[in-house]
Formats: sequence, structure tokens, C-alpha cells
Amino acid sequence: MAAAPKIQFEVVTPQKLVYSEKIDKLEAPAIDGLIGIWPKHAPLVTAMKIGVVRVVKDGEESQIAISDGFMEVQPDKINLVVRTAELPDQIDIDRAKSAKERAEERLEKERDNIDFARAEASYDRALARLKAAGHQDHGYDRL
Ligand code: ATP
Repeated sequence: MAAAPKIQFEVVTPQKLVYSEKIDKLEAPAIDGLIGIWPKHAPLVTAMKIGVVRVVKDGEESQIAISDGFMEVQPDKINLVVRTAELPDQIDIDRAKSAKERAEERLEKERDNIDFARAEASYDRALARLKAAGHQDHGYDRL
């Protein structure tokens, strides 16, 4: 039987290469909604939003928290270039919880559109990190 097809997946931030593996498939938060990518996918480039990438490698699922950036897909390679990305074991849960609380306080009092949008983005980054780290929360439907 032929080996199951794989696709090379790399996650890069301005600081480092966070992930580089041959995977089976992924699901990621593109700007227009969740997008699934498999080997031999049609080429595409899309902006990404804050959220969680679900990666399946050798049949096992893992998660990566990302913030905004871009994804470039070629039939044999996926390049995800994002401002920040963390694997579950790199996520400081207490830090994400505090960031979420700070953002919630700001969301309650901010009226200015720019500051509201900033607080909302900060809230979403914290939620994505908690979700990727497997922490339970009821706010995840936002992402
Ligand atoms: P905080 O307010 O806690 O700094 P933030 O959302 O403002 O959170 P970012 O600007 O998105 O932080 O990230 C700055 C750097 O810190 C990045 O390298 C990111 O990967 C890392 N980082 C942020 N939060 C966490 C976390 N909870 N666990 C691990 N790394 C984190």
C-alpha cells in the first residue's frame, strides 16, 4: 500500500521557526473563516486571524496558538508566517489568564474604537493560547 500523502508545514514568526514537520492535514483560522489544507491542495495565499491551528500528523492531532499573519499554500508545502505562535508546552497559562483578565477589564470600559479593537485582539490572543493549551473556557466560540 502506498504511504499516506504528507505536506511540509512550517510556522515562522519574526523571532524563530516554531514548527517544521511533514503533516497529514491542518485546519487554520483564515481571515474569512476556518480553512482545511491537505497534501496537493491548490495554491493559495490568505491573511490569517488570531486563533488555533489544528494539525494532524501521523494521525495524531496537536494545536498551535497563532496571532495574525499570512499563510501561503503550495501543493507540497504550507508556510504560515505569523506575528506570534506557540505550541501547547510553550504556553504560560497563568500569563494568558492574566492577559485575558486585563483585556476583559479594558473591554468593559473602553469606548474609543481603536483601544476597544486592541483590547479585543489581546483578549483573543489570550483565549487562543488557553484553548491551544487545552484549558477549558466558555469564551472559545469567538475564535
Ligand atoms: P502579554 O500581555 O501577556 O504580553 P500579549 O498577547 O500582549 O500577551 P504578544 O505581544 O502576543 O503578547 O506576544 C509577545 C511574545 O510573548 C511572543 O513571543 C509570544 O509568543 C509570547 N507570549 C505571549 N503570551 C504568552 C503566553 N501566555 N505563553 C507563552 N508565550 C507567550
